[in-house]
Amino acid sequence: MSDIEIARAAKKRPIQEIGAKLNIPLDDLLPFGHDKAKVSEGFIKGLQGKKDGHLILVTAINPTPAGEGKTTTTVGLGDGLNAIGKKAAICIREASLGPCFGMKGGAAGGGYAQVVPMEDMNLHFTGDFHAITSAHNLLAAMLDNHIYWGNDCEIDIRRVAFRRVMDMNDRALREIVCNLGGVANGFPREAGFDITVASEVMAILCLATDLEDLERRLGNIIVGYRRDRSPVYCRDIKADGAMTVLLQQAMQPNLVQTLENNPAFVHGGPFANIAHGCNSVIATTTALKLADYVVTEAGFGADLGAEKFFDIKCRKAGLKPEAVVLVATVRAMKMNGGVKKDGLGEENVEAVKAGCANLGRHIQNIKKFGVPAVVAINHFVTDTEAEVQAVKDYVASMGSEAILCQHWAKGSAGTEELAHKVVEIIEGGSAQFAPIYPDEMPLFQKIETVAKEIYRADEVIADKKIRDQLRQWEEAGYGNLPVCMAKTQYSFSTDPNLRGAPTGHSVPVREVRLSAGAGFIVAICGEIMTMPGLPRVPSAEAIRLNEAGEIEGLF
Ligand code: ADP
Ligand code: MG
Repeated sequence: MSDIEIARAAKKRPIQEIGAKLNIPLDDLLPFGHDKAKVSEGFIKGLQGKKDGHLILVTAINPTPAGEGKTTTTVGLGDGLNAIGKKAAICIREASLGPCFGMKGGAAGGGYAQVVPMEDMNLHFTGDFHAITSAHNLLAAMLDNHIYWGNDCEIDIRRVAFRRVMDMNDRALREIVCNLGGVANGFPREAGFDITVASEVMAILCLATDLEDLERRLGNIIVGYRRDRSPVYCRDIKADGAMTVLLQQAMQPNLVQTLENNPAFVHGGPFANIAHGCNSVIATTTALKLADYVVTEAGFGADLGAEKFFDIKCRKAGLKPEAVVLVATVRAMKMNGGVKKDGLGEENVEAVKAGCANLGRHIQNIKKFGVPAVVAINHFVTDTEAEVQAVKDYVASMGSEAILCQHWAKGSAGTEELAHKVVEIIEGGSAQFAPIYPDEMPLFQKIETVAKEIYRADEVIADKKIRDQLRQWEEAGYGNLPVCMAKTQYSFSTDPNLRGAPTGHSVPVREVRLSAGAGFIVAICGEIMTMPGLPRVPSAEAIRLNEAGEIEGLF
């Protein structure tokens, strides 16, 4: 059965029952239909004094293009923990419409480890992304309007630093010229669109702790520069108040359920390259107040996703993760071991062994943050026993443990062993989380620390221009910010074809950007696309409503 068929057959419970599992009063669940709800801001405020549950991060090795099953494993582990009698919730990101009509596959997990309603989650859901798009574009409109009516802030229109966004893969809008059409339409200039998940407003919504913090951060967005290079902020354009109004509902986390009727928070979805790639802080902190165990996911492989989860999200939100589940698949081991995509279906124990070096390095890296890790082998039907055993043996030789997980095929029955292991790790109390660099470290050194400690590069290469820029930001008071690394997810290096565990490489920083509202410095290492395109045959071509009015072709 396809993911969507399994999801459609789900025996969903009314969302009020799911809320009741977390003791959320009816008045504080704001339902969107029967199976989705937002959790009220007032209720969340009232939770502040409560004790936190245990936080578990699900991350992965460097993936193959198909995605290796982090979301699926997050859902599976959440169900597994509930199945062994723990009060557990999961926290994952919302989906973007762009990739949904392109090629990626769903964002709600897969097989018998899914969040439902998956159609809604992959489409408009509760409208959060539309609100973010609107808030972002309100600022863009007010900015051009400010320039039109006399430009009191003296913005250099050659240095407007704020683009527009849309939640669609549309390469035609990457670079545009706006304000054409004569005097009445303003001053023509080059501009462009990014996809909504790349909006700084998205990153801000995901890092803000409450509405006041949201408004303050929105006000700090840099929209452009004057001729003397001094920044002009969103608050100078006076858009922060109205943007906060547009985002008021979107700030409230969404509650849905897994196929096994366990609570799932699905909220926020920043890009994992130019942003930090985790669900919202407010969803995670709320879940921690309401459940004893919270399982969450970070985007891409652990070199990017886990590093940013630790160094940006946990640092900023004061979170203390106690266990990491590192998802590996036999397929990805093989690909890292040199097998091409069309050869992944055949047994190849040698390639699996060769590819394990990638897994080993991620295990070592996670230890550097002081959080104990267990490996989850996300089982595919094509995996052979010998291949699975090869992974287990390798992980044991690294002083860790790998557990075979069959949640995709069996739901919670396939993750109970993993759930027990995670509880054992947490009860062992060995976690001593700390970010890998301190706030006070100079910005360039922060980039070097990640490149050397996590990517195992020999050096970071950057022009004088880039180093000078970082120094200027330090002088302007931004030196304490963490760095948000943007590089390929397919390799530890900046070359997507360099698989396994490369050494001796260098990390070229092509560009640095200041996300002053979100509160990080983006270091762009390699080709990074902030407005994707659609493939030759977009999955949208196969999506339609059938005679019964059901959605078909959505995964
Ligand atoms: P990630 O979160 O790492 O991107 P997902 O959990 O979203 O990965 O899974 C990506 C895709 O792979 C989904 O369509 C899912 O159905 C599929 N998938 C995941 N695990 C398995 C498995 N064990 N067997 C078959 N398909 C799987
Ligand atoms: Mg995912």
